[in-house]
Amino acid sequence: MSVTPEAHDVGRASRIVAETMMAGHPDHDAAAPAAPTHHGERSVREIAATVHDPEIPVLSIQDLGILRDARLEEDGTAVVVITPTYSGCPAMDTITSDVREALRAAGHEQVRVDTVLQPAWTTDWMTEEGRAKLREYGIAPPTGRAAVGPIAVGLSVKCPQCDSPNTREMTRFSSTACKALYQCRECLEPFDHFKVH
Ligand SMILES: [Zn+2]
Repeated sequence: MSVTPEAHDVGRASRIVAETMMAGHPDHDAAAPAAPTHHGERSVREIAATVHDPEIPVLSIQDLGILRDARLEEDGTAVVVITPTYSGCPAMDTITSDVREALRAAGHEQVRVDTVLQPAWTTDWMTEEGRAKLREYGIAPPTGRAAVGPIAVGLSVKCPQCDSPNTREMTRFSSTACKALYQCRECLEPFDHFKVH
């Protein structure tokens, strides 16, 4: 552990201050049992981050980078802002209702989920943790960065099984529009590649 006790305490203190400011009222009664109005120890973001993508269940909406903001407003409304991966992605309805359900289950009575379309989501927003989870799941994570303009950066897609860059695209669209089906020329395993977007 490189974190000194002092640094830890400072971090914790500033976090509590930030949460208190966001909540708009002090809530130090941590020992009280979880009443319906009590929001517990977890922040709105932590609760929202437990929601997973219905198409790729190993990824949380935080891993995907579609969880843009989460806060508790002064009137006690838990607000979560999400940006869809692809316009018209049917998973977004499921994600929206899952976020509501998770927050209600955690004691938030007033919940609002806002969808923001601009700036548009890009695979660049996917976290390193998310990319590692994808690889473990057998899906090649997006390579390189999203194109600035119409031409995507063509980096080789590595096989998630044997790590070989010697792969080929079989079909542009796999089980979902977000993925393409690839095959490894070394180990011959077919795999999904989460396309750069
Ligand atoms: Zn391979």
